[in-house]
Amino acid sequence: MNSLEVLGEFAPQPCDEAHASAFAQAALAPGTTLTLFPYNPAPLQPDELRIEVTHAGMCHSDVFMTTLGWGDNVMFPLVPGHEIAGVVTAMGDQAKGYDIGERVSFGVFRTACKKGTCEYCATGREHLCPMREETYCPYFGGYSTSFQGRADFFTPIPEGIRSEHAAPLMCAGLTTFSPLNAYTRPGMKVGVQGLGGLGHMGVQFAAHMGCEVTAVSTSASKAQLAADLGAQHFLNSAIEADKRKAKNSLDLLLITSSAYKISDYLDLVKPGGSVCVVGLPDIKADLGVTMDFIATGKKLIGSIVGSLAETRDMFNFCELHHIQPKVELHAFDQAQQAYDMLALSQPRTPVFRNVLETSSFLTTHRH
Ligand SMILES: [Zn+2]
Ligand SMILES: [Zn+2]
Repeated sequence: MNSLEVLGEFAPQPCDEAHASAFAQAALAPGTTLTLFPYNPAPLQPDELRIEVTHAGMCHSDVFMTTLGWGDNVMFPLVPGHEIAGVVTAMGDQAKGYDIGERVSFGVFRTACKKGTCEYCATGREHLCPMREETYCPYFGGYSTSFQGRADFFTPIPEGIRSEHAAPLMCAGLTTFSPLNAYTRPGMKVGVQGLGGLGHMGVQFAAHMGCEVTAVSTSASKAQLAADLGAQHFLNSAIEADKRKAKNSLDLLLITSSAYKISDYLDLVKPGGSVCVVGLPDIKADLGVTMDFIATGKKLIGSIVGSLAETRDMFNFCELHHIQPKVELHAFDQAQQAYDMLALSQPRTPVFRNVLETSSFLTTHRH
């Protein structure tokens, strides 16, 4: 199905380069090819903000979407991106509380029930609203020079946080901050499995929340890095003897990688402790552990990104503790190379987060 047809009057208008006020990096068909896509944005709705995107983080879910890794009900052209930072360029008549030029960010969810009256929206948990919609597909996401969405779903970026860091905080950051903030207390022994885009944030958050952190990874080469991020312990989970030594040592284990079997890690958790899963589950995810949870009184927690209120809390926490994602900046017209690094690990895997930045592209394409 064509995303522009589905959006109808709310569709961005494709045009030639000379007449375009915005450019996206769009997947035109399933796969990992991104194409420069000139367009003019849809008319701004009264409750919307439009921003010039300065930075867009590349999340692994973007790859799952364009490659149909989560199913084929995906519409093209598809502009991925739900880690967005930029500056306000236009405001609808009813969009209140922002200034032109203000730095703002936008994350994984575009909207929730309009009136905000469901039990979730009414209690500041709009990320659980049954009417919530994802930021992109069919709408255009953040791999673009322009983005627009409901004003109340933007979050102002505080002074002490750079926009290139705010972008990846919107998914990788919030996804780990939210459950750690909700389910840990100072002094708890917390394991963070996986040291990628999510895990490297999880280690920093848990350490600054006063937890005793064990980084759990199969890459021995990441041990020093884990220590630099604040982990007291490093467990190489590829070594069975080391795993046995760490048996029953954790109050909570946060699983952040994209391929894992929960049963491989369950023994690390104390009886009565918890396993929190935020990494995208592998399609062959291990569901055969129910009995193990029952027998040991361990709890399995699911957590999906986080709320707008938690986004503000996270920004404040990052500002206070000087917590930053490790980012690698890529020029907007080099999006394909950055996307290939993420999707195909070519020419190499990203360090933690590839972030597109538009400034040099905009100097030559603004008119
Ligand atoms: Zn994401
Ligand atoms: Zn709702």
